[in-house]
Amino acid sequence: IAFGGYIETRNLYQRSTVFKNTNSDERNIHIGLDLWINETATIHAALVGKIHSFQNNTALGDYGPTIILEHEIEGIVFHTLYGHLSEASLLGKKVDDVVTKGEQIATLGLPPINGDYAPHLHFQIIIDMEEKTGDYPGVCSEKILDFYKNNCPNPNLLLKIN
Ligand SMILES: [Zn+2]
Repeated sequence: IAFGGYIETRNLYQRSTVFKNTNSDERNIHIGLDLWINETATIHAALVGKIHSFQNNTALGDYGPTIILEHEIEGIVFHTLYGHLSEASLLGKKVDDVVTKGEQIATLGLPPINGDYAPHLHFQIIIDMEEKTGDYPGVCSEKILDFYKNNCPNPNLLLKIN
């Protein structure tokens, strides 16, 4: 699979108002990891955990159907976000449902359901969800990048793809 994009500055977000701030502090730095996989590929949980929240984020360029898992390892709580999923991925899901490592949790979404991108998975680690549910910024501005680098460490720490 092709993957990448963590802490990558991108221009493509200019097509959508979702990422525009009124003060021109533009959100164009990607803080997740994108996995460009076959559109029929199944999506599996990277770690044991439970469902924190899920939601269809329907704006153009947004995640579309999104699932966030909560994990606790050695007393440390953190989250993983799976974005650009199919609508069917959200069916039958319940908050706090246990998810085992490697369990299939979703299938990939196609455009326009997935925010209107070529099919890919957006995978992001989020330590503090900041009270958000079903959604979390996957793109940030330069001004606040230091905060997000700490709160959203490199997803490849978990995936260990070479
Ligand atoms: Zn992404």
